[in-house]
Amino acid sequence: MDAKRKVCLTGPMRLRLIEELLREGDCELVLGKNAEDFRTYKYERRELIELIGDCPVVYPSGRDAIGAKVLDSCPDLQAVVKSSIGIETVDVDAATDLGILCCNSPTPENYLGVAEATVGLMVALFKRLKLNEAVMRAGGWKEAQNRGALMVGRTVGIIGAGRIGRNVAKRLAAWDMKFLGYDPYVSQETVAPLGIKMVALEELLRESDVVTLHVVLTRETRNMINLRELRMMKPTAYIINTSRGPAINEADLTRALNEGIIAGAALDVFETEPTPIGNPLRQVDPSRLIITPHNIGTNPGSLEAGQRMAAESILSILDGKAPETVVNPHAIDLWRQRFWS
Ligand code: NAD
Repeated sequence: MDAKRKVCLTGPMRLRLIEELLREGDCELVLGKNAEDFRTYKYERRELIELIGDCPVVYPSGRDAIGAKVLDSCPDLQAVVKSSIGIETVDVDAATDLGILCCNSPTPENYLGVAEATVGLMVALFKRLKLNEAVMRAGGWKEAQNRGALMVGRTVGIIGAGRIGRNVAKRLAAWDMKFLGYDPYVSQETVAPLGIKMVALEELLRESDVVTLHVVLTRETRNMINLRELRMMKPTAYIINTSRGPAINEADLTRALNEGIIAGAALDVFETEPTPIGNPLRQVDPSRLIITPHNIGTNPGSLEAGQRMAAESILSILDGKAPETVVNPHAIDLWRQRFWS
């Protein structure tokens, strides 16, 4: 049975390459609000259901939650495709039960961009770049207490040893550092060639000089680092989060930084995005905390590559072929049965 080649792009999107690619692939597009007037618009559930209508594929923006109710209310919906790696805004379990495919777009431009940025943040923390720069701008000069630390011989604790976590280790391979890893779904054999030793979370926190988070956001990883975990870390250690904000309890991290429980942190992601003006994190001593607005790993190439990969996934689905980007492979049999038999 042929599917309608109709795709709902909820938008608003500033980069519109995907529209071009889908039109070239003979798709009819249902477009949401425009990016010029509705840059940060977040749809209500009812609006999303109406917008998706009888489209077999939806390409939601990062703000739109595709929950069980939306999935269940769109009987023609075969797939939810995202141009990012993170897909936590989609209820993947509910989609699997309904035979709806969920796809992400893990392009090298995206995950290598984040891995490079993570190394950059690590160097900035160890070398105390922000502090010394601020001293210079205020008219000062070098002070013994402001010296940075050597990274050689230090231990990097990688929480989440997937694409980005492994690529951080790969990039630092020549720096003569030690790598500990914690990831219940990755075996020691898989990461041994990268020199990563898998350990329990507690050991990683106690032993590492810098802890870096690269987990997907799930029920398990939400809030996985709170005051208890931060207290296990060395007072001289740093923590970096370029994965998803809710993996760290922000109030606890703010306290840990203000009270010197740990030495410093770098965050590209936040519990709520954009993070509110009044978030106390913004007031933490800037020499202890680097904050970037969820863009340190992105680059023009990553946005484009993400849309290209998403377009390829969509066109493949509309031809009845499950793409490699499916994150819920258990849905494939039911998807075929429901839509392609
Ligand atoms: P990935 O799926 O390759 O790796 C994620 C790893 O987390 C997996 O190995 C998984 O086993 C592990 N994991 C799952 N549950 C865990 C748990 N309870 N404890 C420890 N580890 C657990 O994903 P990736 O491509 O490496 O991306 C990692 C994260 O970075 C994702 O959250 C993604 O959304 C985020 N990301 C952020 C940006 C950004 O702009 N800051 C860009 C791309 C990706």
